[in-house]
Amino acid sequence: MMWKTAAFSGWGRLPYGTSQATRPERFGQLRAAVTGSGAGTLIARGLGRSYGDCAVNEGGRLVLTERLDRIVSFDAGTGDVVVEAGISLRSLLDIFLPRGFMVPVCPGTAYVTVGGAIANDVHGKNHEKDGAFGAHVRWFELMLASGEIVRASRDSDTALFDATVGGIGLTGFIVTACLRLARIPSNALIVRERPVPDLDALLAKLHEEASATYSVAWFDALASDGSLGRGIVETATVSPTNIQVKPRKPKSLPVTPPSLVLNSISVRAFNALYRARVPANGREKLLDYDRFLFPLDSVLGWNRMYGKRGFRQFQSIVPAAALVPLLERIGRSRAGSFLAVLKAMGPAGTGMLSFPTAGYVVALDFPNKSGIVELLSDLERITLEHGGRVYLAKDSCLSAQGFAAMYPRLPEFLDVLERVDPKRRLGSNMSRRLGIRGGTP
Ligand SMILES: Cc1cc2nc3c(=O)[nH]c(=O)nc-3n(C[C@H](O)[C@H](O)[C@H](O)COP(=O)(O)OP(=O)(O)OC[C@H]3O[C@@H](n4cnc5c(N)ncnc54)[C@H](O)[C@@H]3O)c2cc1C
Repeated sequence: MMWKTAAFSGWGRLPYGTSQATRPERFGQLRAAVTGSGAGTLIARGLGRSYGDCAVNEGGRLVLTERLDRIVSFDAGTGDVVVEAGISLRSLLDIFLPRGFMVPVCPGTAYVTVGGAIANDVHGKNHEKDGAFGAHVRWFELMLASGEIVRASRDSDTALFDATVGGIGLTGFIVTACLRLARIPSNALIVRERPVPDLDALLAKLHEEASATYSVAWFDALASDGSLGRGIVETATVSPTNIQVKPRKPKSLPVTPPSLVLNSISVRAFNALYRARVPANGREKLLDYDRFLFPLDSVLGWNRMYGKRGFRQFQSIVPAAALVPLLERIGRSRAGSFLAVLKAMGPAGTGMLSFPTAGYVVALDFPNKSGIVELLSDLERITLEHGGRVYLAKDSCLSAQGFAAMYPRLPEFLDVLERVDPKRRLGSNMSRRLGIRGGTP
């Protein structure tokens, strides 16, 4: 899964279409890449795990950060770790989990960099309790488009801090960051799974267990009427005792199936089997953090499951009142999504373009076939009508108007960009599509 190739500090094509790419190993090489001349705009790319185009820069330049991945210092008293921003959460977990420290917020894959986690202010299954990734960042150092390195925190240059957390890489290149890791009593979680017959029961169970650190629900996206929102609610509480952890051996998807294999009939069959796994009165098990938090990381190339045409994800946060219209529209489309997830979110952080805020996250993967773009545009409209917002890390279709309406702090963000990048050297496909930094690259 971790894709590493030879050191490379000039500009070259690599497998990035019409972009030039460079992979610096030292800050000096990074500065040379950032300040040197070249075609088009520049943008950082971590491990490329965003689903849309925030780390894509056609006709421009990509700075691959994965080799700027050293640990600079660690304070076992506070849990503060200073790292280069290209380090992955996978590496941090491998080093610190056995020592009783946890990355406080993890998305559904560990194969993301610290820089990518800050730039999308990622959230986990514990947002209600622990907030988003940015809430655990004490400070970072950012290389601006001019090559100057500046430090930002909640106490110094707060505007730059809040613009960079969730700022999809447009303020500059995060070079180092200080994160506060969480001390944990064991390597295990007590995981409870309970089937729920409908949306009311699902929402009630998501909030029922006050002691649970993590909660998430899978729902049957093809269910309708009285069964709308039926699914399985999973909660997890930290276990006081360790368990023996067998090393995980990820399996590869043996073949890329034809796109036709995924249709409403196969998804309906999968959903019935998936629901039937959990007995009517629920079940409880002890799992290590990895197996609970990153189920998809055990299947290498899982994204190939959608065939050559790939897939699109829809992910938005909405208030409870929007859930019925959203789920009904999804069910009517019969588009079929194995991955249909609902999470309860806590209050918003301070990032100007951060996605997480109070409400419910709905996330679904749809095979990329005819009618999907229209479906996503309807889901965008329903989200907007209810005052919700679409997640940029997962987005490939949002309109510029929809984006501006969903992210009301955009004008503040643009002011910071004018200050730190007046020559408009940074940009991505996403920044152009959403009208943040327009024009050709
Ligand atoms: C299986 C799977 C499950 C996921 N689950 C979740 C989830 O539960 N919650 C969630 O929030 N997200 C989730 N995600 C999305 C993922 O966490 C984000 O897209 C994350 O930002 C990817 O990090 P990356 O290192 O791959 O960054 P990339 O995708 O390469 O880049 C993301 C953004 O970060 C910027 N960036 C990267 N490095 C730097 C840097 N050093 N300085 C400045 N900007 C930088 C890029 O310019 C880009 O705008 C999931 C993704 C996958 C594949």
